[in-house]
Amino acid sequence: MARMRRELHLLSAALKHSVPFSSPRYIGHMASDLLLPGLIAQMTALPYNPNNVVDEAAPVTVDMEIDAGLQLARMLGMPADETRCPSAFGHLTSGGSVANYESLWLLRAVRFFPLAVRAAAQRCGCDFDCGDRPLSALDDWALFNLPLDQAIALRAACETHLAADADRSRAEALAQAIEAERIETLGVAEFCARHPKCLPPVVIVPVTAHYSWDKAMKLLGLGTANLWRIATRGMRLDPAALDAALARAHFEQRPVLCVVGVLGTTEFGTIDPIHRIVAARQHWQARGLNFGIHIDAAWGGYLASIFRAEDGSLRSHEQVRADFRYFPSHEVYDAFAALGDADSVTVDPHKLGYLPYGAGALVCRDHRVFDFVAQDAPYAFSAPAAPTAHDPRARFRALGRYILEGSKSGAAAAAVYVTHRTLPLDHRHFGRLQRESLLATEYFFDRVRTLADAVADVARLILPFEPDSNLVCIAINPLGNSSLARMNDFTERIYGHLKVDRQQPVQTRQFFGSSTRLSRAALGGTDSQRILSALGIDPATFCDRPGVDERSADSMLILRHTLMNPWLRDAPAGTNYLDLYCDYLAGLIRSELRGGVSPPASGTPPPAT
Ligand SMILES: *Cc1c(COP(=O)(O)O)cnc(C)c1O
Repeated sequence: MARMRRELHLLSAALKHSVPFSSPRYIGHMASDLLLPGLIAQMTALPYNPNNVVDEAAPVTVDMEIDAGLQLARMLGMPADETRCPSAFGHLTSGGSVANYESLWLLRAVRFFPLAVRAAAQRCGCDFDCGDRPLSALDDWALFNLPLDQAIALRAACETHLAADADRSRAEALAQAIEAERIETLGVAEFCARHPKCLPPVVIVPVTAHYSWDKAMKLLGLGTANLWRIATRGMRLDPAALDAALARAHFEQRPVLCVVGVLGTTEFGTIDPIHRIVAARQHWQARGLNFGIHIDAAWGGYLASIFRAEDGSLRSHEQVRADFRYFPSHEVYDAFAALGDADSVTVDPHKLGYLPYGAGALVCRDHRVFDFVAQDAPYAFSAPAAPTAHDPRARFRALGRYILEGSKSGAAAAAVYVTHRTLPLDHRHFGRLQRESLLATEYFFDRVRTLADAVADVARLILPFEPDSNLVCIAINPLGNSSLARMNDFTERIYGHLKVDRQQPVQTRQFFGSSTRLSRAALGGTDSQRILSALGIDPATFCDRPGVDERSADSMLILRHTLMNPWLRDAPAGTNYLDLYCDYLAGLIRSELRGGVSPPASGTPPPAT
């Protein structure tokens, strides 16, 4: 007991060195103060230690997780009535990365399934109807490019056929042959060898995509060489670049597993034109090229609550616009309005859901895609319960049978569910919180321009991209400097006062920010030129390779701010932390240019704990 007490005291003391995410002085990464309903729900559920892998280990919280998935689906504009088919299905993950991996895992299973059925049917001497044609009349290219709902319908047709066959051993042989021909059974290499027309599939992402997409390609054995990164404009997916990539895939007959749109890029908060990805699919589908659409909304997903009325309908652009100064642009509105057309969406409750780690989520528009990956485990999952009108979710209570992860926290599910019940995901409830952070962003956006004027005699300070969400980047260059390397050194020194490092107690910091680097490849020519000229940097010092000379650099360091805290503009004591921050930054710029060491104090220091 004494040792435990001692260790707990030490822990409690050591944790004082943690990052004060809850402070309005924290505007660094995607973390902020936590919502009490979620935090308390999580702590309440934690001692029961429910395991949401299966309801046998979590009779209460598994249903909460399924409900939370439907709540998210409704916010995104997907069909969320589980008594109807198709209906969406969503579940929690440990984070956005895993949700992204799972989206590819599911799409691969569904889209390659028809090829396995045809191979197996050939082997067993039978045939199925696939849409209006027999399966045997379709080649591998056509089968891979079936729309998702046709692949799902084909699986249903197989099941009906297998169940109706009076010759049980023949049915059993066919079922086994289908399993034997699947890409999950054969592995990617053998599957491609047996289907030479189906070269390794590609996944198309914008250059701004999160690094988890590289990991996903490695993990699934698809290969990062088959991750096609396409150009952006202003850090938003460029529809012309997407069209060119699809034209190339069509020409080379490369199967496109999926196109990923990012709703709120991790580094810049910019929002891809999701509606244009949906339009591209319509265009190319008519030419025989089809692809899944996954939206990585790990960051921006919850902003969709602003766009939903209480009855679940989509609010008009004018209605949304009325609450803001700038938000949302037409493109941003259309992007949110198109979310319901995606096949799957990643959303992180532990980011803009203001909930504890680890809570990510994957929501799929059609719950039947999960049947393609069902995994038996006799000790854990009994024979799946068939859905009934009375209990449509019955089989999904064996959650671990259908998802990538195994044992998982039921306490996290309780946190998400209770939060969504307390603050429903519409503009009058959860949306109010999101509105606060967007209004803070608009305030900051305007305030940074005054800041730029205030330091104009010593530095050029610009916003490299107009923000689409509550994430704002700033680039700073001392006046008279034209070397990118020197600009980076200067920004590094400024950032040195804003970051968490082990040398300095967090309590001595005035503010916390974050930073990121823009590479030339990611920026593209037009955006590079625009930003460099606004900063007065010689374009010749922005190189593709590092270390060309001491004036040059291969990336541009910029400050990054995530404005999540609802008390940034009008904290209870009347403090405006964004004003304080801008004054502090102006002081830092001046003192660093004087070669100063001590940052000027601003306002009251942060609280000691
Ligand atoms: C944060 C983020 C991820 C990864 O989510 P984790 O919860 O950190 O695993 C993926 N994509 C985007 C766009 C993100 O912002």
